[in-house]
Amino acid sequence: MKEVNYNELKKGGFMRQVQKDHFSLRLRVVGGRLTSSQLKKIYEVANKYGKGYVHLTARQGVEIPFIKLQDIEAVKKELSEAGLEPGACGPRVRTITACQGSSICPNGIIDTTELANECDKRYYAQELPHKFKIGITGCGNNCLKAEENDLGIKGAIEPEWEESSCTFCGLCQAVCPAKAIQIDEKNKKITIDRDKCTYCGRCVKSCPTNSWKGKPGYLLYFGGMFGNNVALAKQILPILFSKEDVHKVIQATLKFYKKYGKQGERFRNTLERVGWDIFKKELEKAIENKGSDFDE
Ligand code: SF4
Ligand code: SF4
Ligand code: SF4
Repeated sequence: MKEVNYNELKKGGFMRQVQKDHFSLRLRVVGGRLTSSQLKKIYEVANKYGKGYVHLTARQGVEIPFIKLQDIEAVKKELSEAGLEPGACGPRVRTITACQGSSICPNGIIDTTELANECDKRYYAQELPHKFKIGITGCGNNCLKAEENDLGIKGAIEPEWEESSCTFCGLCQAVCPAKAIQIDEKNKKITIDRDKCTYCGRCVKSCPTNSWKGKPGYLLYFGGMFGNNVALAKQILPILFSKEDVHKVIQATLKFYKKYGKQGERFRNTLERVGWDIFKKELEKAIENKGSDFDE
C-alpha cells in the first residue's frame, strides 16, 4: 500500500485529524470573502464528504473536517468548480486576511479587499523559514488586528490643518486619542506633535468646518506573533502613501526573511537575532529604489 505523505497533504491544506485517515481541509479564503455560490459548494462538500459542518478559523478561514483520505482528490475537484482552493499550511505565506475596508465600511481608509487580492497573487504560499501571516485592516479601529501578524497593514490618514475655516471649537483636540493636537486660540494656530500622532484621522473626520485635510496612506507593522510566544508587531517606517511602496516593502521583507531566517524560526525571532536596524535599512533602500543587498 502506498505510504501517505502527511507533510505534502498538510502543505496542500489537508490537516491530519486525531481520527485515523481523516483530514480537516482548510480553504483559501482571501480577505475573508466568499461568494454565495462558494458557500453553497462548501455546504454540499461538507454534507457529502464531511460531517455536515464547518469550522471557522481565527484567521477568516473555513475548514471542512472529516474528509476521508480516499475522497481528497474528489473533494479538490468539486471545490475547484466553485473557484475554491485549499489553503496553505506550514512554512510559507499563509492566506491573506482583511477586514471589509473602504469598499464597505464607512470608517475604511484603504481598499483592503483589493490589496488582499494583490498580495494573494504576488506572495501567497511563498516558501519561508516558518509560517508568515499578512493581515490588512482598513483603519485605526484595527478590527483585523494588524499587530498580530508577521506583517500587518493598516489604513491611516496624515492630517494637515488649514487655518482658513477653523473656528477653534476644540473638537479635534478633544477627540484626538494621542493627545497630539495643541490649539493656540490666541495666536490662531493649531499644531500637531507628529511623534505622538497615530494617523487615526479622527481630527479630520470630526471637524465641522473641514479645516483638516487628510492624506490617506498605509502603516506597516512587522514581527507580530501569537503562539507559544507572544509579541506585537512594530511600526518602524513612517506612513507610506503609495501601494507601490507597500509592495516594495513586502517584497524586501520576504527577501530578508528568506536570506536570514533559520529554518523553523519565526520572523520576529529573526528580526531580534539579526537586528531591527539592519532590517529597517533594507526596507528604506527598497523604498528608495536603491536595490537590496539580496538582489541577484
Ligand atoms: S478596521 Fe476600520 S475599516 Fe476595517 S472594519 Fe474595522 S472600522 Fe471598518
Ligand atoms: S475641529 Fe475643526 S474647527 Fe474645530 S478647532 Fe479643530 S480644526 Fe478648528
Ligand atoms: S490623526 Fe489621530 S492621532 Fe493624529 S492628530 Fe489627528 S486625531 Fe490625533
